Amino acid sequence: MVLNAKIVILGDAQVGKTSLRNQYMGKGFRGDYLPTLGADFASVEKKILDPKKNNKEVLLRLQLWDLAGQPSFGQIRQLYYQHAIAAILVFDINNQASLFNLERWMEELSKHVGFPSVFLTILANKSDLRNEYSITVKDTKKFLIYKFLPRFKDSIRDIRYYRTSAKSGENVDTAFLSLSEMILDSMR
Ligand code: GDP
Ligand code: MG
Repeated sequence: MVLNAKIVILGDAQVGKTSLRNQYMGKGFRGDYLPTLGADFASVEKKILDPKKNNKEVLLRLQLWDLAGQPSFGQIRQLYYQHAIAAILVFDINNQASLFNLERWMEELSKHVGFPSVFLTILANKSDLRNEYSITVKDTKKFLIYKFLPRFKDSIRDIRYYRTSAKSGENVDTAFLSLSEMILDSMR
C-alpha cells in the first residue's frame, strides 16, 4: 500500500528550498543558483517503519511542491496550496527578512490550503554558513514562540524545527523523516 501526502515547500527566494529537496532526493548539491520558475513538482517514495505497528514497513509517497519564492508568482502559487497536508517553511540563517517573512508564507498557506490545520516543519537553513552575524537560535525562538506560534496556533497540527544545511546534508534526512512520521501518524 502506498500512502500519498502533498507537501509544499515555502520560503523566500534563495533560502535553499530546491537544494533541500534535491539533497533529500539524493541529487546532491549545486552551488550555482537556478531560480525555480512557477512551481516544480517532485515525487519521492520512502519506506518508513511504523513504530506503532511492530515496525511494519509502510510506503509513503511524498509529493513535494517546490514553489517559486518570487512575489510575482503570487497568482499561480495559490492553486498549489490546495490540499497540502504539510508545509516545510525554510529561512536562511543569514537573512533576517527571510525569517520574518515566514509569517507571510504561513498567512498565504492558511488562506488557501483548504484544511483547518497543517503539519509544519521549520528549517533554519545554510547552517554551514553560520558566522557571528547569523540569526541566533535565541532570536529565532523568540520570533517563533512570541510572534509566529500565537498568531497561527489554530492552523498548526504539529510543528518541528531543525537547523539544516542542504550543502553538507546536516539534518536534511532527519527533518523529512520526522515530518513523514507525523503525517503517517495522522493517517492511521
Ligand atoms: P530556493 O530559491 O529557495 O529554491 O533556493 P536554492 O535551493 O535555489 O538555493 C539558492 C542558493 O543558495 C544556491 O546558490 C544554493 O547553492 C545555495 N544554498 C542552498 N542551500 C544551501 C546551504 O545549506 N548551504 C549553502 N552554503 N548554500 C546553500
Ligand atoms: Mg527554488
